Amino acid sequence: VPVSRIRNFSIIAHIDHGKSTLADRLLQTTGTVSAREMKEQFLDNMELERERGITIKLQAARMKYTAQDGQDYVLNLIDTPGHVDFSYEVSRSLAACEGALLVVDASQGVEAQTLANVYLALENNLEIIPVLNKIDLPGAEPDRVKSEIEEIIGLDCSGAVLASAKEGIGITDILESIVYLVPPPQDTVEKPLRALIFDSYYDPYRGVIVYFRVMDGTLKRGDRIRLMASGKEYEIDELGVLSPTQVQVEELHAGEVGYLAAAIKAVEDARVGDTITLAGKQSSIEPLPGYTEAKPMVFCGLFPTDADQFEDLREALEKLRLNDAALQYEPETSSAMGFGFRCGFLGLLHMEIVQERLEREYDLDLITTAPSVIYRVTKIDGEVIYIDNPSLLPDPQYREMIEEPYVQVDMITPEEFVGPLMELSQSRRGVFKDMKYLTQGRTTLSYEIPLAEVVTDFFDQMKSRSRGYASMEYHLIGYRENPLVKLDILINGDRVDPLATIVHRDKAYYVGKALVEKLKELIPRHQFKIPIQAAIGSRIVASEHIPALRKDVLAKCYGGDISRKKKLLQKQAKGKKRLKAIGTVDVPQEAFMAVLKL
Ligand code: GDP
Ligand code: MG
Repeated sequence: VPVSRIRNFSIIAHIDHGKSTLADRLLQTTGTVSAREMKEQFLDNMELERERGITIKLQAARMKYTAQDGQDYVLNLIDTPGHVDFSYEVSRSLAACEGALLVVDASQGVEAQTLANVYLALENNLEIIPVLNKIDLPGAEPDRVKSEIEEIIGLDCSGAVLASAKEGIGITDILESIVYLVPPPQDTVEKPLRALIFDSYYDPYRGVIVYFRVMDGTLKRGDRIRLMASGKEYEIDELGVLSPTQVQVEELHAGEVGYLAAAIKAVEDARVGDTITLAGKQSSIEPLPGYTEAKPMVFCGLFPTDADQFEDLREALEKLRLNDAALQYEPETSSAMGFGFRCGFLGLLHMEIVQERLEREYDLDLITTAPSVIYRVTKIDGEVIYIDNPSLLPDPQYREMIEEPYVQVDMITPEEFVGPLMELSQSRRGVFKDMKYLTQGRTTLSYEIPLAEVVTDFFDQMKSRSRGYASMEYHLIGYRENPLVKLDILINGDRVDPLATIVHRDKAYYVGKALVEKLKELIPRHQFKIPIQAAIGSRIVASEHIPALRKDVLAKCYGGDISRKKKLLQKQAKGKKRLKAIGTVDVPQEAFMAVLKL
């Protein structure tokens, strides 16, 4: 089809507002996927994604649609990941589109991720079509939500589509709106080739599969291409479209979306946001705007419980990294933990996903240490260093100042939870920025908070204090100086470096006390008494001890409740798997995360 009949669009939504369900319905209605082929949520194809109900990797699908004007159109749906950790990927996939469906749950309203995604869409100059989803629900209030969108986002909702992705209501209206409202791509087929990479994944047989949108020019099978950011050159083995399974074609033109394979060895060499050009002619060509390398913000140590698994862990990380350019790791040796890796992640969700995949897909037993952010430390001699591991913080006599990353956290909440959320933010050293009443009883609340305080359990606390009704987004705003100190933990007299944390001076005593109490609970009794201490430098700020084991554990169960005894034994057997011997003390996995649970 001619460029004038191509439409490239994304769906943006807050989590659970129905993006995947709507995508399924569009594929089905256009006959791209038959009802029989239709697995629920076709686009979320990783097992882990399905279980967690989130979209991690974005993908694309090409649909043919005969509109009511009798013409055939090609509609390319480019899916976006739905989590803040992947907002750079969201922004790149939006850059490959001319329009976006803004899906809002009509029984809920505008949420934090709705707003964040809309801002990204506006930055990319997209035509935004509001869709009020879930109108089949008895609690749906499309009119209220429309006025909310108009007031908060300033988006005209007179043409908003009322839909139920679940019941198949409004789907044709949505398709027609895409055809009429989303502009076609510009016809720049005469210009030299530039294509934007919006996703890639590693295939063990064909190398990296790259998803891209041709912005200018033409790409043919057999072309020799150059990836501008990495500077590497390859010959295209395979070129195709996603309908939604891969179908090979000979060439793709400006405005089209497709995939290619070119024996690329790791996704690192074909990163999201990079520009593809033809090899040889690149000197006068400007790369497409917006490329940045996704930088890890959260770090933790990964140690095999069994030292023999170190090489397996290395191999597993190498394999995961082929598919995940944002994952960083380097070997780490700890006197307490032995050999392992220090790993960097985009955020907490990214970290959890990687840990889970290592354990599930590679069958490793790991001890994970508490997450840390990157501190910027200026030493007495003026040298500036970045520390992602609290145990490596230079002693006070060698450092001039410590700065820590801050984020702006934007929350949207029903009015009645404003108090509890302010309290939460303040307890996390938050600095109040702004509060706005949006519409009847809904409020936005903005705080500047140290990232270290957000990567603990901030999200869970926000959810529980608002009974699940509040939502949040955050973005990095820079580094700030604070009086921070390193809190060491000593078990049985030994400094355990993976338990070291960096805390605000004013909180150090409280955290130290709470931490030793928590560790006392978590570390099982041994044949001997175990002292647990918290220290700042050589000063002990809190101490506890775990008394020696005397009685049989079963003595705890008074009387003869056999099922309780069984349960207790089972619990112990399970706990045993994740213990790390530190000196003569067996420390369970939970202890390394104790600082998150204070
Ligand atoms: P996503 O997180 O935005 O991808 O949301 P999903 O598509 O996974 O949908 C979240 C939940 O809402 C699922 O349980 C869907 O079945 C449900 N859902 C989606 N669309 C509708 C709808 O139109 N009506 C109703 N009642 N439920 C819906
Ligand atoms: Mg989804």
